[in-house]
Amino acid sequence: MAFAITQNCCNDASCLSVCPVNCIHPTPDEPDFGKTESLYIDPRNCIDCGACADACPVDAITRVSRLGPDQAVFADINADYFADKPVESEWDVPRFPLPTINELSEVEVAIVGTGPAACYAAQALLRFPRARITFYDRLPTAGGLARFGVAPDHMGTRRIGEHFRTVFTNPRVTMKLGVEVGSDVEHRELSERFDAVVYAVGAERDRRLDIPGIDLPGSTSARKLVGWYTGHPDVPADAFDFEGVERVVLVGNGNVALDAARILTADPADLEGTDIAPHALAVLRRSSVKEVVLVARRGPAHAAFTRSECQALVDRTNIPVVVSGPVDVSARIADLPDSSAASALSGLDAVEVGDLPSGRRIVFSFGRAPAAVGGVDRVESIDIGSGDEKRRIRTELVLLAIGYQGSPTLGLPFDQATSSIRNAAGRVTDTEGIPLEGAYVVGWAKRGATGGIGHNKMDAEETVDALIQDMAGRTRQPATRRRTPFNRVGAWLPLQAPSRGLS
Ligand code: SF4
Repeated sequence: MAFAITQNCCNDASCLSVCPVNCIHPTPDEPDFGKTESLYIDPRNCIDCGACADACPVDAITRVSRLGPDQAVFADINADYFADKPVESEWDVPRFPLPTINELSEVEVAIVGTGPAACYAAQALLRFPRARITFYDRLPTAGGLARFGVAPDHMGTRRIGEHFRTVFTNPRVTMKLGVEVGSDVEHRELSERFDAVVYAVGAERDRRLDIPGIDLPGSTSARKLVGWYTGHPDVPADAFDFEGVERVVLVGNGNVALDAARILTADPADLEGTDIAPHALAVLRRSSVKEVVLVARRGPAHAAFTRSECQALVDRTNIPVVVSGPVDVSARIADLPDSSAASALSGLDAVEVGDLPSGRRIVFSFGRAPAAVGGVDRVESIDIGSGDEKRRIRTELVLLAIGYQGSPTLGLPFDQATSSIRNAAGRVTDTEGIPLEGAYVVGWAKRGATGGIGHNKMDAEETVDALIQDMAGRTRQPATRRRTPFNRVGAWLPLQAPSRGLS
């Protein structure tokens, strides 16, 4: 009886390095790595040792015999990944890259940001005993998207925060919270003070959808909703009120949209005891939302959500899930292979969005692009589709969940095509590809807004590898400047973590 990786998988691959038979895939040297929705355990080779379960930072790995009814599908999901792959049992050194340099003289690094990418970079740096790190975050609370991006009811995934807490409390780490780089302190000042500056600033902008009416009151971003129910300091407690709102339309069908749909339709009693912000729970208790419609331009074969997240939504027995779209939408879903994300919707009723249901429900609408948001003073409807497929859906709230992008800030070279800071393997470069001395980047700011929490681990390892190589090869002396206080530091907040960091 093997172990299986479940819905919580953060993809950070901590389990790979401990499996004695290398039966967790894809590994970093396989082409699928970073592209699958989770890692998978090959049940044909697993020897049941349990080492991976101990190593997993989010408790995503469970013995198959202990999977509950709502998780039994993960035994199949793990096995399915290996269906067309040869049995390959290999007792060997785990396939995980090791740091290229094990000795390093004293190095002081500033990391801008405190989210997952920043934490993985810090973890990699702290393997070097003489590395010291100072985190900078404009927010008064550490954690970034690990705290303000993970759905409050995904308690397993949120455990990654506990994992990162060990970074913030490391005696070689200093926290500068409430300090905005680019405003309170410039890159130039950081680069003078530290041997290296690592930018982990994420992707702060929402992708825009340029359709008529999109700027009407009542049309906003799903990011704002996520920030509201996770208690993000930038989002006021009164940013949302669902009294009088009967239908919410989410444009997009990635996992952020699924999270929003699940929270908006949940029984508030089920959200008690989760990490939801108290103000959000109070508002949701008064909510009159009956239907959440997820609108996708493309068909079910191109769903952006993951199979496991969708399956979990469908398996929630108290909220019906239905599909909508062109007349053949059900047949198209039924034809999908099991490995397809939208196969989780197979067999569900198909409806036309119109009259509201008596209870709550979630509708997955496929194959009709949003065309215009209608309303006089605020949102009253949204038009989707065109020609014979055109539909008008009455709604009071439209939430955009079509992704994020970075912005050219901090004076660093920015690549508009990828919406990321220009870099080569994590070294910030100018337009000629020449590295800027001492400047590095990780996470979404490095590769664009793709991938979940765990994808940042390998990404950060690559950047830290480059940083360490540069430090080991440098000729200049480490600066005595690091003992020199900034003349603008006086206004900075004192160390806040961990009490105001992850909790
Ligand atoms: Fe590998 Fe042991 Fe986990 Fe099986 S239980 S996947 S053998 S680490």
